[in-house]
Amino acid sequence: MKQSYLKLDHVSFRYREEQPNVLKNVNIEIYPNEWVAIIGHNGSGKSTIAKLMNGLLYPTEGNVVVDGLSISDETVWEIRKRVGMVFQNPDNQFVGTTVKDDVAFGLENQGVPRDEMVKRIHESLSAVDMLEYEEHEPHRLSGGQKQRVAIASVLAVQPDVILLDEATAMLDPKGRRSIMHTVQEVREQREASIVTITHDLNEVAMADRVIVMNKGQVWFEGTPRDVFQKQDGLREIGLDIPFVAKLTQHLTEQGVEVERQPLDHEELIQQLW
Ligand code: ADP
Repeated sequence: MKQSYLKLDHVSFRYREEQPNVLKNVNIEIYPNEWVAIIGHNGSGKSTIAKLMNGLLYPTEGNVVVDGLSISDETVWEIRKRVGMVFQNPDNQFVGTTVKDDVAFGLENQGVPRDEMVKRIHESLSAVDMLEYEEHEPHRLSGGQKQRVAIASVLAVQPDVILLDEATAMLDPKGRRSIMHTVQEVREQREASIVTITHDLNEVAMADRVIVMNKGQVWFEGTPRDVFQKQDGLREIGLDIPFVAKLTQHLTEQGVEVERQPLDHEELIQQLW
């Protein structure tokens, strides 16, 4: 059987001694080159999982293993190289005065040699279509452009897992679609694994596998189609299936071929006509 790359092994977590566990015996495995979406209502533990996956938090009980390394003070820096994270608000992620400096920052931290650094900055900004902005000031960019630069900074470090924690939440549908397609391409080119934490069930549809969290536990795990078929259950835990996903499901059932799950009705129409 294929080995998972990243594993939360019987993980429980609480922020403070006196508090109850916010994660209870969570088992999650992420395989190489897989795209996994984690969904669930506010407070169900998704961000806590993301922070455990890249060593920003350590489990209270259980173990987090990345590429065979168990999380500890000795391994945490190696783990952070392997798992790159993009957050919801790009403004909190910038450290450089230009886009180029910003992407360079993570590489300098890792002692990447100068020539290699120039190459990686060029490649990662090209991948997100932001090369022409390399001398621009990050805070003057649009929300979508900022998020693309944040992704480039993560890509430059060449992580094996890219974690996006509500990374498209602040964008309009067009910006969101463009980011998701960039991520899709990166996965194909770099064979990275993608973990997206999202409220957008249209985005969920792009994943290979979906994990639904409820009250700190894994409530359900399956393909997007499996998840969308649990409409009543999802509604009970406060999630609703997007119209375009319902429509796509209906069309597929009627024998209409939809190449891949569209992110919105415009994309669905483009696929059909
Ligand atoms: P989600 O990402 O699904 O919204 P979180 O992982 O952010 O959920 O939160 C899970 C639970 O942990 C919530 O009850 C939240 O209030 C609590 N929590 C999150 N961050 C902290 C923190 N820094 N200190 C104490 N409790 C926290």
